[in-house]
Amino acid sequence: MRLRTHLWTSTLTALLLYPRKPLPAVLFTSAGVLIDLDHLLIYGWRTGDWSLVGAIGYNRYRHRTLAPGDTRPRYGKLRSWLHQPLLVLPTVWILARRRSALRPVAWGLTLHLALDLTEDWLRWIQRWNRPAPPH
Ligand SMILES: [Zn+2]
Repeated sequence: MRLRTHLWTSTLTALLLYPRKPLPAVLFTSAGVLIDLDHLLIYGWRTGDWSLVGAIGYNRYRHRTLAPGDTRPRYGKLRSWLHQPLLVLPTVWILARRRSALRPVAWGLTLHLALDLTEDWLRWIQRWNRPAPPH
């Protein structure tokens, strides 16, 4: 999912959940957005390009459908273990159960991973329903 989508959904949800509590709202939004820093790190490792401009440029074109003749490399989803819901969510919720101050972080991560998973399913359905190319 696009970073800007995570930013506005996290910010809006944080404002709705914590209207008069700025710290939990900031923690929620930060968790919902900053988890995507793993994409930046993996992009840097895979490409050797550590520039933010390069990463943003790649992020823009990777969301487009592959045009015929486009030979630019694609590097996959660029997701680390931080984007593994079955690993991250139980861990963060166990911690949040012990420390209530971590609950906004747990909710922010949960929202982020739910949005990513929903997008994955929608793309999978889209691909499944796409007509076969003509021969
Ligand atoms: Zn993500």
